[in-house]
Amino acid sequence: FRDNKLVVQIIPFENRRQILVTHDITESERIDMMRRDFIANASHELRTPLTVINGFLEIATSQPNLDPQVRMSHLKLMTEQGHRMQNLVEDMLTLTRLESVDYPLRPEKVNMRMLLEQIEQEAVALSAGRHIISLQVDGPDLKGGTEELRSAFGNLVSNAIRYTPAEGSIDIRWEDGEAGPQFVVRDTGIGIRPEHISRLTERFYRVDKSRSRETQGTGLGLAIVKHVLLRHDATLAIESEPEKGSTFTVRFSKSRVADH
Ligand code: ADP
Repeated sequence: FRDNKLVVQIIPFENRRQILVTHDITESERIDMMRRDFIANASHELRTPLTVINGFLEIATSQPNLDPQVRMSHLKLMTEQGHRMQNLVEDMLTLTRLESVDYPLRPEKVNMRMLLEQIEQEAVALSAGRHIISLQVDGPDLKGGTEELRSAFGNLVSNAIRYTPAEGSIDIRWEDGEAGPQFVVRDTGIGIRPEHISRLTERFYRVDKSRSRETQGTGLGLAIVKHVLLRHDATLAIESEPEKGSTFTVRFSKSRVADH
């Protein structure tokens, strides 16, 4: 079946024409495999925090006289794991919505200065004074989905912070390029080795799982970015040098510029 259609091939065989009915299941098999992988990955990601929470709950019920300080540290760890599950479920819902044809993009005029200033404020809060963050807005407003773009730009900026050690800098720019407007996030962080770059937008693909989890990563951020950009006919370019930093550039076509 290709797109649920049966493929019928007529092939010559021993000088006779035979009809070979094949089930070309490559495409549906591929989709099925992706679905299974996604469920397996998501279940695995949810199982870890659940195991931690259940473990501490068992301790709390079996040891009612636990030292209050120890109890407090258990509660903090449980809260962290609860947030991790919440982020994961929210990212999964966002991704499912972005992939669904039932949720078409409703293009509106996006005030880019306002959007990027809000994203910068969130970045400042996430960085908690550990980075130097700059924002420059020179480009025009866009026609697009405000919430979708907030999610894509927000993910790129929060990645820049999460993968840049303290004292590093993050430059965010919105500029008018030759071919159209572009969004650029440059960081002086840990960088990415070339062999990983082409796989980064796959769901749950991470260069370093433990680091991503430590920084509250769900492994879905760049998959969300990819789907938002697909909906805006935009492209993503990633340039990176290990230990030096990375630059993520999103390019939009001129047809996405909002009328004045
Ligand atoms: P995560 O939630 O793990 O950050 P993403 O989909 O946002 O998931 O990113 C996938 C992986 O790409 C990350 O786990 C990380 O290894 C790598 N990555 C993303 N952005 C950066 C960056 N700015 N610098 C270095 N590595 C990055």
